[in-house]
Amino acid sequence: MNDKLAVEPSLYIVATPIGNLGDITIRAIEILKSVDCILTENVRHSSLLLDHYGIKTKTRRYNDQDEKNLADVIVNQIKNEKMTFAIISDAGTPLISDPGFKLIQKAATVNINIFSVPGPCALISALSVSGLATSKFAFEGFLPSQKTAREHRLKLLKSETRTTIFYEAPHRIIEFIKSISRILGSDRRIVIGREITKRFESIYRGKVSEIIAYLDDNPAIVRGEFVVVLSGAEERFEYSDLDSLLGVLLEELGLKQAVSLARKISGVNRNVVYERALKLSSH
Ligand code: SAM
Repeated sequence: MNDKLAVEPSLYIVATPIGNLGDITIRAIEILKSVDCILTENVRHSSLLLDHYGIKTKTRRYNDQDEKNLADVIVNQIKNEKMTFAIISDAGTPLISDPGFKLIQKAATVNINIFSVPGPCALISALSVSGLATSKFAFEGFLPSQKTAREHRLKLLKSETRTTIFYEAPHRIIEFIKSISRILGSDRRIVIGREITKRFESIYRGKVSEIIAYLDDNPAIVRGEFVVVLSGAEERFEYSDLDSLLGVLLEELGLKQAVSLARKISGVNRNVVYERALKLSSH
């Protein structure tokens, strides 16, 4: 554990609440009080949090896009003026669909100390309450708002077997789930986390078709912030995988036993396995 406060020239990535002001760590508050400057996505928005916790540190607006050289300026100030910075975003963990990547990338290339002060992150909160598989997952963030581009991206996810997490704006959520239905099918399990940690927090679980019907019937809930958690595609055994499995089994076992085992492992129809095993053993 790293328990030292901001004494060395360094950069702290500090997670802040995603809706409930109480969701901030003691260490985060201490770090924010002790750095020379807090880089923030939106000074006015952050002042609510900083005022609430009596944090008087000076702030500076930081955004990866609009100020090309700011990342260089900050990196120089850390290196040459021995300054210490923290970066926060409007909500949750900086860099996760939020500014900070350019700065951290630059700081890492010149070996500046970069420390994480972990805390809330909407994707992790939504995944953990989803009831969908958590052992492997993929985060897609916001997909393009334009339908063709969005559906193109979804097509690339057709065979993704991991649980996949998306962020989406409220005015696009229904269209987004309809795109999922068109491209990935209406039977997949999907979980919508709305306003997590806030007063009107709600979780909706069901098949894609059921969630579309529910949102269409209840327009009043289509506001606030949403995370979409989608179950992965079923694991499908590709023929090339089946062939390599059979290849290994046939080296050690007779045809019948190899077919029986390959069928159990792959779940592929017995006749198909048998035919491929015959083909392989005749080569
Ligand atoms: N950096 C943030 C994090 O760690 O999750 C995410 C920032 S991103 C600009 C904002 C998106 O995160 C929202 O549009 C929504 O999809 C999701 N989000 C943030 N807070 C949320 C909440 N309380 N409930 C549901 N989704 C939330």
